[in-house]
Amino acid sequence: MLETAQNTISRAAKRMGLDDKTINELIKTNAEHVFEIEMENGASYKGYRVQHNNKRGPYKGGIRFHPKVDIDEVRALATLMSFKTAAVGIPLGGGKGGVVVDPRELSTKELEELSRKYVRQLVDFIGPDKDVPAPDVNTNAQTMDWMVDEFEKLTGDTSKAAFTGKSLNNGGSLGREAATGRGGVMALMEVLKRRGKANDELTVAVQGYGNVGYFFSKVANENTPLKIVAVSDSRGGVYDPENGIDVTRAIDVKKHGGAVAAYGEGKRDVQVISNTELLKLDVDILVLAALDNAITEDNMENVKASIVLELANGPVNEKAHDYLVRERITVVPDIIANAGGVVVSYLEWLQNKQGKTWSEARVNEKLKKIMIAAVDAMYNRADEEGINYKEAAFEVAITELNS
Ligand code: NAD
Repeated sequence: MLETAQNTISRAAKRMGLDDKTINELIKTNAEHVFEIEMENGASYKGYRVQHNNKRGPYKGGIRFHPKVDIDEVRALATLMSFKTAAVGIPLGGGKGGVVVDPRELSTKELEELSRKYVRQLVDFIGPDKDVPAPDVNTNAQTMDWMVDEFEKLTGDTSKAAFTGKSLNNGGSLGREAATGRGGVMALMEVLKRRGKANDELTVAVQGYGNVGYFFSKVANENTPLKIVAVSDSRGGVYDPENGIDVTRAIDVKKHGGAVAAYGEGKRDVQVISNTELLKLDVDILVLAALDNAITEDNMENVKASIVLELANGPVNEKAHDYLVRERITVVPDIIANAGGVVVSYLEWLQNKQGKTWSEARVNEKLKKIMIAAVDAMYNRADEEGINYKEAAFEVAITELNS
């Protein structure tokens, strides 16, 4: 992932005529904190916080708890955050953190201890104007609540602006839960508008029916003419080209039975499909909201959609991206398509700094303005330079980071 991220940046920077020194400046990380978290029970876990670039504002990025976290992954994600915040024009930089741990093996008490000790290790390097972490894989509002409380105890800072993604009664923002999916709909609709297709009933298949995939589907259903005809999770999916998927019923089924495929039980029009089949469906739009590397050289030739929306981070690898572009398939890149989450994190940080609480409608309105401006900047750049959206989004980000 690190190599792909750095290649994408170098390619864009070279196209823009930047010299090697400037390119190295864009790629290198400002600081890398690596430490051991010693637990009371004698266990010890490696922790990381990589701070990539803060030229445009405090470092911003999630903290993940996962046994496979390593420094290269954290570096890559920190780097991509700097380009994401720059591409969407919010005044923040890029960072990322992680702990090498399987959180399922820890009790709630131990998770709290780990979260608080992570903050103790980093207290001098984070804060509302230095570095503002958020949740990521296997961390959530509860983790952030522990962390912001520990930060407050250590520093006396009561603003709660040192962390985002907190629970609602502890300085969290309305609209955060749905923000990435909602932002994805906003970005997609802006692309469709530019093509004169925003009023068409286009068909959509959604890979990944977790937080992002579900809220994408829900908001698309409520606010657009898009028709969600297929959804899947790690255990398979369902396809109903005739009636479309009832997204609320699908999430209820998943919550109760564990797998979205159970939505098909007893329904004649619904076909139960595999994950491989979902990617091959003859739909207008394919939404990738599960994992990285969902489309690679092994399956890129199966894609029939004319638009691919990258809601996960890096769901289309470099080779597959080049192939799809050659086939005239539009890829809306992750650093724009899934930026809704970090945009609402930014709005949470602003509310905390100003001591205010905005309504959900106000948060969504601000999100929309930022997402539309970001898509327009990407679109115009692509038009002017005759380049694809991914290249254009990175060029916009590089221009921001270099100004
Ligand atoms: P999640 O864990 O809530 O959901 C992931 C979903 O993907 C689950 O339904 C899972 O079953 C499914 N899945 C896993 N493997 C699959 C496969 N092979 N085929 C089909 N489905 C599969 O996670 P999320 O928060 O929805 O995040 C999804 C992606 O979006 C991740 O890559 C994440 O890094 C990225 N992302 C999330 C946010 C956010 O705000 N949550 C922001 C930016 C990017």
